[in-house]
Amino acid sequence: MRVLVLSDIHGNLEALSAVLAAARPRGWDQVWFLGDLVGYGADPEAAVQQLRALNPAFMVRGNHDKVICGVESASGFNSAARTAVEWTQRALSEDSLAYLRALPEGPAVAAPGVWVAHGAPLDEDEYLLEEGAASRQFDACDFNLCFIGHSHIACVFSLRAGRIGRQVPPPADGLKLGPGERHLFNPGSVGQPRDRDPRAAYAILDTQGGQVEHYRVTYDIATASQKILQANLPPLLARRLETGV
Ligand code: ZN
Repeated sequence: MRVLVLSDIHGNLEALSAVLAAARPRGWDQVWFLGDLVGYGADPEAAVQQLRALNPAFMVRGNHDKVICGVESASGFNSAARTAVEWTQRALSEDSLAYLRALPEGPAVAAPGVWVAHGAPLDEDEYLLEEGAASRQFDACDFNLCFIGHSHIACVFSLRAGRIGRQVPPPADGLKLGPGERHLFNPGSVGQPRDRDPRAAYAILDTQGGQVEHYRVTYDIATASQKILQANLPPLLARRLETGV
């Protein structure tokens, strides 16, 4: 089975369309989505429609999804994120808001030993950035491979023979899933990368081949950021698409 793994789309239609166009010839049997479908970008309704059309086999909610659909308050958000929340709430149909409300809390078990989570398996809102935090996840959970998002930084934490290593970005020729190894894999963000590479990011899990492929895709950043400015969303949300931070 081949699984297209998408995270942190954030209402960026240009990025999502480019990822799907690039991934289609590589082929997939299922789509898994790691949360944050909307928030920041200027095309939340179209992003919801596109993801729905893909009919993901497994999905979890992100912090932006939760706040925008009213499951949680925006009190922990900075002012740009809060402005984007209010704008996005107005831009979404009732139907799409209901879709967001129905997104489940992570983690979800998507295949034997394979989990999906937004921030971390132990806490959907935690940013997994360093080895210590990853170590707590490996200790407390029994996944062999867990896909995570939330930080918008493509990376992989690997536990091999009792030692944790971190690779930023993940290996370009694919992460081989060796026997006895355990991994936390962040494919990076489709719609708002923050790892100084502004290209859209995604991964494909190949269960037969025993590996995770990782890809970056150029997309029409100028159009996506122009739409943000035209919508009167905070200009920094447009700038960060161009810089990838
Ligand atoms: Zn996000």
